Amino acid sequence: MDVHEYLEKHQGSLVRDLQAMVRVPTVNPPGTDYRKMVDWLARRCAGLGLEVAIHQVPEGVVRRAGLSLPRYNVVARWPVSGAPAVHFNAHYDVVPAAGKWRCGGPFASEVRAGWLYGRGSGDMKGSIAALLMALEALRRTGQEPAFGVECSFTADEETGGELGAGYLVRQGLVQADYAVVCEGASGNRVGLGHNGVLWLEVEIEGKAAHASSPEQGHNAFEAMAEMVWRLQSWKKELQAPGRRWREPNGQDRWPTLNVGGVFGGGPGDKVNTVPARAAFTIDRRVLPNETMAQVEEELRAALERAGAPLRGVKVRIHTRLRIDPCVVAPDGDLPQAFARAVQRVRRRASAFSATRGFTDLHYFVVEGGLPGIGYGVKGEGAHGVDERVGVRELVQTARVYAEFMQRGF
Ligand SMILES: [Zn+2]
Repeated sequence: MDVHEYLEKHQGSLVRDLQAMVRVPTVNPPGTDYRKMVDWLARRCAGLGLEVAIHQVPEGVVRRAGLSLPRYNVVARWPVSGAPAVHFNAHYDVVPAAGKWRCGGPFASEVRAGWLYGRGSGDMKGSIAALLMALEALRRTGQEPAFGVECSFTADEETGGELGAGYLVRQGLVQADYAVVCEGASGNRVGLGHNGVLWLEVEIEGKAAHASSPEQGHNAFEAMAEMVWRLQSWKKELQAPGRRWREPNGQDRWPTLNVGGVFGGGPGDKVNTVPARAAFTIDRRVLPNETMAQVEEELRAALERAGAPLRGVKVRIHTRLRIDPCVVAPDGDLPQAFARAVQRVRRRASAFSATRGFTDLHYFVVEGGLPGIGYGVKGEGAHGVDERVGVRELVQTARVYAEFMQRGF
């Protein structure tokens, strides 16, 4: 039996693996049930004959990051002597679930009409299940992979990945020559990278007063409105032709700015009080042809200009998140070899893409200096109600991983 026959035949085990994982609600924030999840993953990897280690992030590091629950990452290896090593990374945390779900709720993990429902089924425990089954297929059919396989299952991607993939890369726990992050593209597309993101929070401090004597206060809300208004004209500059980035598929992309995804006042807000505090967030997507340092400097300068004419208020700008953009060249040996595997399994010409969202790929490519790509299952409704993944899609993705592992470069 070859790996593809094996995977077709063992679709049921793939589904059961994914159901077991979805039933562990690794919701982040705050990061619940991580221990349960990594124990399951470590057991499953050990059962495949892999060398497994669970790396707990030191408590002090977790506390300094403002978190209270423990953080763990799993590294599993199938070494192949004399061959390069490819690192496969997937995050096991999921975003919180709300709303009314079909099929028994977000963690019931039921299969209906060829779809497995549940939070994390697509993003991205489905990719973990596919990867584990690909390894099982090689093992049980007596094949050695064409390269050393190193896997990591990491925490916290949904909140930036600092103590997940970021921690492993910075601690030198990734010992590979290439990286595949198991999301960021799917189907016949191979992901070459992603946008970065910069999150700022702008806080305006004014002075409270009774609404009947507004001249005695400084209205923070009105100041915020003025600032936001001035930002609108600056925002148009982001559409300048020189800022364009050409996507791997030939389409044009520009930087984007989302203002006020979160905004609000302060604890003393009242209809008859001059507001003393106002705050709003900014989400600035950073293109692969931009650098984080330049983008942040430019945005802070624009905010300072927008705030300069204000009287009687203080403006503070806080950085909440920085994720570097990253992109690799399509003609490298990793994208080319992976694209061949995709093409053989999916029976369609492969294509390259770069997602507008972000993944943990930048840790491996920008910080780790590895050539890296993104590829995983295509789910539906990620981060929404009724998140799901097709059972057929799980099998096809497992086959792509197995094909790549078997044929190599
Ligand atoms: Zn994800």
